Amino acid sequence: MAYQQIARAGYQINTQGGLVALAYKPMIFAGITSLLVGTLVYHTFLPYEDLPQLDLWYYLLLFAAVSRALAAIWYRLADENLPLFIAVWYVVTAFSALAWASAPILIWPEVPLGQSFLVLVLVGMSGGTLSTLSAMPFAVPFYMTACMTPLLWRLSTHHTEISLSLLALGIVWVIWIVIAGIRAHRTVRDNVITGEQKEKAERRMLHQAYYDELTELPNRRLFLDRLELAINLSRRHETYGALLFIDLDNFKRVNDSLGHQAGDELLSWVASRLQMRLRDTDTAARLGGDEFAVILPSLSNHLDKAIQQAERIAESLNQSIARPIFAGGYEMHVEASIGVASFPRLEEHSLEVLRHADAAMYEAKKAGRNCVRIFNDAIGKRSRKRINTESEIRSALDRDEFVTYYQPQVNETGEVFGLEALVRWNRRGERLLGPEHFLGVAEDSGLIREIQERVFESVFSDMSAPRNLPDNISISVNVSAGEFYREGFSTNIKQMVSAAGFSANRLCIEITESMAMRQVDTVVEVMKDLRDFGVRFAIDDFGTGYSSLAHLKALPVDTLKIDRSFITDIKEGSPDAKIVKAIIAMTNQMGIRTIAEGVENHEVAEYLRKNDCVYHQGWAYGKAEPLENLFPFQPLSRRYYQALSDSGMNILQ
Ligand code: C2E
Ligand code: CA
Ligand code: CA
Repeated sequence: MAYQQIARAGYQINTQGGLVALAYKPMIFAGITSLLVGTLVYHTFLPYEDLPQLDLWYYLLLFAAVSRALAAIWYRLADENLPLFIAVWYVVTAFSALAWASAPILIWPEVPLGQSFLVLVLVGMSGGTLSTLSAMPFAVPFYMTACMTPLLWRLSTHHTEISLSLLALGIVWVIWIVIAGIRAHRTVRDNVITGEQKEKAERRMLHQAYYDELTELPNRRLFLDRLELAINLSRRHETYGALLFIDLDNFKRVNDSLGHQAGDELLSWVASRLQMRLRDTDTAARLGGDEFAVILPSLSNHLDKAIQQAERIAESLNQSIARPIFAGGYEMHVEASIGVASFPRLEEHSLEVLRHADAAMYEAKKAGRNCVRIFNDAIGKRSRKRINTESEIRSALDRDEFVTYYQPQVNETGEVFGLEALVRWNRRGERLLGPEHFLGVAEDSGLIREIQERVFESVFSDMSAPRNLPDNISISVNVSAGEFYREGFSTNIKQMVSAAGFSANRLCIEITESMAMRQVDTVVEVMKDLRDFGVRFAIDDFGTGYSSLAHLKALPVDTLKIDRSFITDIKEGSPDAKIVKAIIAMTNQMGIRTIAEGVENHEVAEYLRKNDCVYHQGWAYGKAEPLENLFPFQPLSRRYYQALSDSGMNILQ
């Protein structure tokens, strides 16, 4: 596997190391060649009787060749020790130079044919060294001068015409080879450097492919590989391991409020805390964003024990993550939700185990975050259902099955002054599903974005279409938290409103009370921006979110919608009635309009009106319906409602 190569290539290669490796590479070959040539010279000169030193010279050559071969073998077997092997190389090379240099001294036949032969051999040998010695600096000049000086000296002492010519040629030859040697060394060195850079780049690429750059933890790819390995080993050794899926709870807030750098530091801290708590055999990995995973292989031979152990480790990791982190001048706090899945269960592979742990993590989030959940069959079932719904929502989006219905909002005279857009899923044209069937999954999976877009599109097209929708009727649209906080939300809305070509103050955005209270600064910023443009705001489900008056005052709100749990069964003297009266007194003073939601019958409507709450929405006035049912193309709204009232629906009182 490629990542194992990274581990092997962990040692540091430098240029010198590369050059030494190159210098040792041809040494055995060079030793053998020199031995063969030397033996040939020896046998050629053996018949000459006036060469008593021939044996000595041959032993010298043998010694040089053997020492070269031994040095080469040693280099291959021993640990890297550059200074030592550079010294050894120069010493054995010097032996070889000595052996060849001593030839014209120890053996110099007086026969011209023999001399020519020796000259040829020496020139050839020293020329041949160019390729084998040029890896080391100064080796070629050193070797050439050592080899050739005695020969040139020998030639200079003969004073014959031919020997003087040979001497001149020899000097030119030495100079030429020395220059060539220096050049060759430069080329070799440059090649080594380029090769090294290439190798470094390749190593870096391999590292990037398998490790997360920020935390240096294994990435998803390497993680899945290790998980697969851990599952297979568990199966073979009949032990149980576990996978922890860790998702930070409030990382986005740190990132948004303190900046990406602080966010990055925080992630690195979390990574190191994970690693600190784990055994050597465990693997912590970063799956992406603020998601981490930990593989705990071989925990126990008993499933229950393994799960208990994994849970304990998860709890302890959770505690260690939750400790304050000081980085970049800030004290930061994050918490994590952890899902635990044991393995091996059946025949499942790494992706399935990951899905299990993910599903358990999702349950931990739903259970209020900062806790640990263990995967079980019920969680698996819920998760499959969610995944199913998610894929159905995707196809529903493709088939354009989401439609927008409108529920009327009426004033004190029963006249419609506004409509609330409520999304419906016309599933395969067979069943109309309310938001409770899909909104949760859509929000968790991010598909809400597209659904929300469709709602806005149909609202804008409905408002600008020639439906005789009176100018004074506003439309309220519900917006989910994730969408509201998304960057560019207000710009997007402004663009859509401008493109639709209607007055922005006919659009009212409903955000829930809990949303408005969560990130007050961001909420106020977005609200003010859109408010300046003309868009109005309503706080939805008011009364359920424990918000304070002070908070409410900070928000540029036009309308407050009292949650239907206070309204539907309201009776004089009940706690609900007291709350509603208090809310109305407060909002009337603040100049905020109050709409009572969930007005199901006329007694309640009457009671509310008597108590100064005159704006209503609820089944007493109509359920959500397609716009054309409420506002057919022809009649104007007042006439339409007059007609409805005349026909006995009695909604104008
Ligand atoms: P909500 O904003 O509180 O909407 C009012 C809900 O109360 C609607 O439920 C409506 O049908 C229901 N309702 C109205 N009058 C009565 C009544 O007299 N009695 C009773 N029992 N219920 C009444 P619905 O349409 O099922 O919507 C549920 C929630 O889904 C909405 O609550 C809203 O939070 C969300 N939602 C609906 N459409 C959208 C949308 O386009 N985007 C987003 N983000 N959320 C939406
Ligand atoms: Ca609403
Ligand atoms: Ca509501």
